[in-house]
Amino acid sequence: TPSRKPLMAGNWKMNGSHLEAIALVQKLAFGLKEADYEAVDVAVLPPFTAIRSVQTSVDADRLQLLYGAQDVSQHASGAYTGEVSGAMLAKLGCSFVTVGHSERRQYHSEDDATVNAKARAAIANEIVPIVCVGEGLEVRKAGGQVAHCLAQVDGALEKITAEQARTLVIAYEPVWAIGTGEVATPQDAQEVCGAVRTRLAELYDGGVADQVRILYGGSVKGANIAGIMAQADVDGALVGGASLDPGEFVKICRYRD
Ligand code: PEP
Repeated sequence: TPSRKPLMAGNWKMNGSHLEAIALVQKLAFGLKEADYEAVDVAVLPPFTAIRSVQTSVDADRLQLLYGAQDVSQHASGAYTGEVSGAMLAKLGCSFVTVGHSERRQYHSEDDATVNAKARAAIANEIVPIVCVGEGLEVRKAGGQVAHCLAQVDGALEKITAEQARTLVIAYEPVWAIGTGEVATPQDAQEVCGAVRTRLAELYDGGVADQVRILYGGSVKGANIAGIMAQADVDGALVGGASLDPGEFVKICRYRD
């Protein structure tokens, strides 16, 4: 049986100054123990402006907390005003970057080609992309969630080799469950996460499919995480709102208790 270490990643979205970020990291550092880090990888994804502060806190206290960014430029460097490159994020010690979050797809018109380019920019800098896929309510009502998400996976993984794909993280985030308080059922999460894993086996091979961590995201809380984590193909969670509450995020990381 594959041994995928669960990953709990907190997407802070556009919240918190760099000082508030330090306070939040300190509260997580107090709440999370050695045994927690042995059981799960824990990561936070602050806004760009707080990453350096998070790095400083993590380094100073030798925390096992991982961190990353919420977006990355598809370009390497140059005249791209406002963009942040993968190399810049790597220099700050980022382990992860979300690409294709539904809020980026919706508000910044990111399509599968852009998501693919950003994923490859991350990989080129040894940062693991957390590739986000998920269907909206209309697609879900029509029963099209699996086809929709697999098309997004196909698009995001173009020209990514099996060797590169092994380390990927894919997050299934049904748009109707993000920030709405309406969590998918564990069965809903498993349906799509299982289909994504099967697709990875088709696109690459069974070894890659066994290694890739597939997360669920959408209104995850301490009270609903255990049922979701009990599913065979769910290897962790991408947590938005609840990741800003250190007590709640620690509970999510301790879903086994
Ligand atoms: C997200 O935006 O990645 C997310 C899962 O948000 P929330 O947990 O707030 O639904």
